Amino acid sequence: MIVAGWLMLPDPHEGVCLKRGFLTVEHGVIRSVEFGEEIFMADMGGEGTIVCPGFVDAHMHLPQVPVIGADGMGLLQWLERVVYPAEASWADPDLAAEATDHAVRTLCSFGTTAFAGYATVHFDAAKAAMRAAAEIGVRALIGQVLMDRNAPEELVRPAAQLLQEAAKHDQIGRVRPAVSPRFAISCTPELLAGAGKVAETTGQFVQTHLSETRDECAKVRELFDGLSYTEVYARAGLLRRRCVLGHGIWLDDEERRTIGASGAAIAHCPTANAFLGAGMMDLRRNVEAKIRPAPGSDIGAGPDRSMVRVARAMLDVARLRGELAPPASHAWWSITGGNASVLGFDDTGQIEQGRSADLLLIEPDIELELGEDEPSIDPLGALLYAWDDRWLKRTLVHGKTVYASL
Ligand SMILES: [Zn+2]
Repeated sequence: MIVAGWLMLPDPHEGVCLKRGFLTVEHGVIRSVEFGEEIFMADMGGEGTIVCPGFVDAHMHLPQVPVIGADGMGLLQWLERVVYPAEASWADPDLAAEATDHAVRTLCSFGTTAFAGYATVHFDAAKAAMRAAAEIGVRALIGQVLMDRNAPEELVRPAAQLLQEAAKHDQIGRVRPAVSPRFAISCTPELLAGAGKVAETTGQFVQTHLSETRDECAKVRELFDGLSYTEVYARAGLLRRRCVLGHGIWLDDEERRTIGASGAAIAHCPTANAFLGAGMMDLRRNVEAKIRPAPGSDIGAGPDRSMVRVARAMLDVARLRGELAPPASHAWWSITGGNASVLGFDDTGQIEQGRSADLLLIEPDIELELGEDEPSIDPLGALLYAWDDRWLKRTLVHGKTVYASL
C-alpha cells in the first residue's frame, strides 16, 4: 500500500517538519519513506493530505470515557461522586471489554492510536481491557489500578492480593501492563513499596498521580507523616525512568530535582487541570529540572478526547503563566514521537522505516503555505490552532483502517 501527501517527520531542531513524499506499507509496517512530488499510484492520500503519525496520549482512564464532562466538582469530590461508581461497574469483565472497545475506537476516531491508560482495581477487568485494546491493534500501556484504602469498599483490595495480581499481568499483542497505584491517598505505604518492587522485578512501567490539587497534597502530608508527595513515591521506589506521573502541579524545587534525577516523566494534562480547577503546571520549571513533559488527555477529568486540543492547551497554559510558549512544531512532536519515547513505544509515534503504520490522514480546509521556504504563517501553527476534528479523514492502526469519516 502506498500513502502519499505531506509527511509529518521528526526534525532534530523543530520537533517535526512537513515534507512532500510517500511511504509504502507492508504487513502493517512502514517499509520505505520516499520524498518528492512525483506520486504514482497512491492508494491513499495525495497533494492536499497531511500524513501524520497517530497521536500518543500519556495519561487517560478507560472506564471514565462514559463520564466525561461531569462538571462542578473538585478532584476528591469528583472521584467519590462520579469516578468510583463508574469504576465499580467494571466488576463485570464483559462490560469492561465492551467499554474498552468503545473507548479505544473513540480515541482512534480522534487520532489517538497509542496511550497509557488506567483500568480499574479488578484483575479480570484489567485483563479484559488489555485484550480488547490488543484486538483493535493499538499500542498501549494498561494498568490494573491499585487501591487498598480511602475508596469505596468494592474498589479496595488487600495489598498482598493486588501485588500478586499486578505481577501476573503479561503483554497481550501490542498492549503492555503497567504498575498503577492510583495515588498516594488510596494506597498504604506497604502497597506503594510493594508496587515499586513489582516494577523492579517485572520491568513494568509505572503510572500514578502526583500533586494534582492542593487539597490532595495536604491529605498526603497528613497520611504520610508530613512527607512531601514526591518523597512518598521516592521512598517506595516508584520514581524511575519508566514512570509517568500524572499532573505534577504543586511541586517545590526539591521535588522537581528528585523527579528530574530519577528520569520519571510528568504527564501534563492541561484540559483536565482546567476542568477540575486543579491549577496550571509550570512547564518551564519542570523542563529546567530535566523532567520530560508528556501531554495527556486525562479523560474523563479531561473533557477533550483530541490530543491536538490537549497540545494547544499546553501552549495556552504556558502563555497564561506569562512564559514563552514552545513553538507548535514542538507540540506536534510531544503528542507523537515525544510521548512514544516517554512511554517506551519504539514502534510508533514517527513516520520511519520499520515502525508500525499507525497513521492519520488529515485534510485541512484552510490555506496552509506548505512547501514555501518562508511562509507568512507557520503551517504547523495554523494546523494546531485552527484544528478541526472533521479534518481527520482516516486513522490507520498497524496499516488497518480503524476509523474513516463519511
Ligand atoms: Zn488521571
